[in-house]
Amino acid sequence: MSPLQRIRRSLGWKLFLSYVLIVIVAVVVLAGTANFHTSTALNRHIVEMQAALLQGTDTAANLDASLHAAINEIIGVAGLVAILVAVIVSVFTVRRIVTPLQALIAGSQHIAGGEYHQRVHVASQDEVGALAQAFNQMAEALEQTDRRRLELIGNVAHELRTPLSSIRGTMEGLVDGVLPPDSATFLGVQHEVARLQRLVHDLEELSRAEAGQIPLNRRSVDARVLIVPAVERLKSQFEDKGVALSVDVPLSLPAVWADPGRVTQVLLNLLGNALQYTPPGGQVSVRAWCEDQEMLVAVQDTGLGIAPEHLPHIFERFYRVDKSRSRAGGGSGIGLTISRHLVEAHSGRMWAASPGTGQGSTFTFSLPLAS
Ligand code: ADP
Repeated sequence: MSPLQRIRRSLGWKLFLSYVLIVIVAVVVLAGTANFHTSTALNRHIVEMQAALLQGTDTAANLDASLHAAINEIIGVAGLVAILVAVIVSVFTVRRIVTPLQALIAGSQHIAGGEYHQRVHVASQDEVGALAQAFNQMAEALEQTDRRRLELIGNVAHELRTPLSSIRGTMEGLVDGVLPPDSATFLGVQHEVARLQRLVHDLEELSRAEAGQIPLNRRSVDARVLIVPAVERLKSQFEDKGVALSVDVPLSLPAVWADPGRVTQVLLNLLGNALQYTPPGGQVSVRAWCEDQEMLVAVQDTGLGIAPEHLPHIFERFYRVDKSRSRAGGGSGIGLTISRHLVEAHSGRMWAASPGTGQGSTFTFSLPLAS
């Protein structure tokens, strides 16, 4: 970094140099004004001296007094001009330093008032410029959080509307006598109530996961102990639908450091999705292997697949590729969001891949090894 760049990036250097500049300007102006005014002042006092000589008054005393007066006048005038110029230069340099700080104060007041779109424009490259940049990053993060909050409220309202409208419609039908009070009608209501309960449960999980408040009971646990029970739990549902389910978890895999309950929850979500989005006759496989001090678990299906434009959003809350299909299956669109949070709470990663629509998809996550 060149000395000039170093000065540009350091407020300390800028302050130091501005003081030096003010001192230099004051000295130069002082010297210049003194030089300029000397002959005028001395000439006037020589004339006064000559007048005193002609009148025959005390020559030595007059000479001395006149010289002192001339010097005082020179110092006075030069000093005044130097102070004036130093004040002007100081105002200019102080303004250059204070203006960005005032912009930051105004910006933070706007942010405090909820105007998260506010940004400050500071061109300097020093610490104040860095502070402005950090401020803008903070404003951006707050704006995003606020946008997500509003989206969440909108999404929750939307998710609640469908089952509530359905329940209300059924109730009105029952009251008006349009619908028969039989078990099919009540089962429909029960189904919608169950969906609402699931949504509320998922939302609670989501808020706790996003706040990092899901307690993890981590311990050293064998990969098969993690994976096989989850597969067993859904086995009959796969059989009922006619989707083949295979498991490939080598016995030699080292233990992982994980909360078995939470990993089972992630696996059930991935396997449940694979089952839901794979038509009868398809295949789902669960594979686990070791790579770079991590255990990787992949759930692969030969189902609907995911188009490339949807893949980057698949872990966002309430994101569904096919809204009606997911909703009909009881999906709230937040299962994957929760799963990714759970994996990340284990210091792992989770991602999805798909060659395209109709070509199946693979969801993979990693867990740290116990060692
Ligand atoms: P949902 O409860 O709606 O299934 P998820 O968060 O689990 O919510 O999944 C989000 C969306 O991702 C689903 O609505 C679906 O569109 C898509 N998706 C998830 N898993 C699969 C899969 N195995 N195959 C195809 N699409 C999937």
